[in-house]
Amino acid sequence: MRTTLANGPPVISIDVEDWPQSTWNRDLPITDRAVDNTRRVLRLLRETEVRATMFVLGKLAERFPDLVKEMQADGHEVACHGYGHVEIAQQSPDEFLADICRAKDLLEQITGEQVKGYRAPDFSIVRKTLWAFDALAEAGFEYDSSIVPVRLVRYGIPDWPVQPAHVRLANGRTILEAPLATFRWFGKNWPVGGGGYHRLLPGCVSRSLARKVMGAAPFVFYCHPYEFDVRELEEIPLPIPLTVRLHQGAGRRYFEPRFVSFVREFGGQRVQDLLSSRHWPEIDLRTFSLDSPLKQISGIVDSLRPEESRCPARPEP
Ligand SMILES: [Zn+2]
Repeated sequence: MRTTLANGPPVISIDVEDWPQSTWNRDLPITDRAVDNTRRVLRLLRETEVRATMFVLGKLAERFPDLVKEMQADGHEVACHGYGHVEIAQQSPDEFLADICRAKDLLEQITGEQVKGYRAPDFSIVRKTLWAFDALAEAGFEYDSSIVPVRLVRYGIPDWPVQPAHVRLANGRTILEAPLATFRWFGKNWPVGGGGYHRLLPGCVSRSLARKVMGAAPFVFYCHPYEFDVRELEEIPLPIPLTVRLHQGAGRRYFEPRFVSFVREFGGQRVQDLLSSRHWPEIDLRTFSLDSPLKQISGIVDSLRPEESRCPARPEP
């Protein structure tokens, strides 16, 4: 029996990538292990009757296009995780635009459908890389789901709204942002949406936190197929230091049963289902500076709205 919540079921989003390439060395090829891990997630989603959003890395889609078709055939939303998994701050705006256009085009060629959503590698849309929204809107993305409204060393924008919002950009365009789930405690937002926290916290604790969040705001959950792979870090032939193995491998043995309990209790939905389910407020990046808080400028505007793409046109076959 699934729990009914005021803000609907959680968004289940999976960042489909290969741990060695996305975390250890961006130049490594995508391995078959990523395929096996992704198929395991697809099986669990079938068994629990949940449709999710799969943010697929372009480099993985290029090597394993049939895996992307399997996601699509199961009714999941195929969205974009960029091409090479390079953090945005390490790219120029032109390099970033080329990366997202390449990945979006690859996914659209494989699925034959428009790709609406984007998630940045390592949640790397932070205060100093908010220019990425202009590129995303120019590339034709309708929404982003990269911002974690917390203060962490590597990522996060602590004063970002915890609800989805239309972001009005300097170029006049808008893009919807669906931030990752956070929990308000002792006057601060704490990240509770992601795989790492669900690997480390006991299942009953993370479900209890999620229940509280979902009473007040939509819950955007994320994880990676490799988090279901208990033996990966022992078996891959790379010189990974023990500290990294411990940090990245902690709790993987508990992850699958915790994930299954989570979706069995709450169900799940795709990002595009959440965003089209109601109207969202608008915030204005034109009044934004690096040291000022964000302003909400209007009440409610329409939900998903397509923008014209500036990606280079695909040549006719
Ligand atoms: Zn990633």
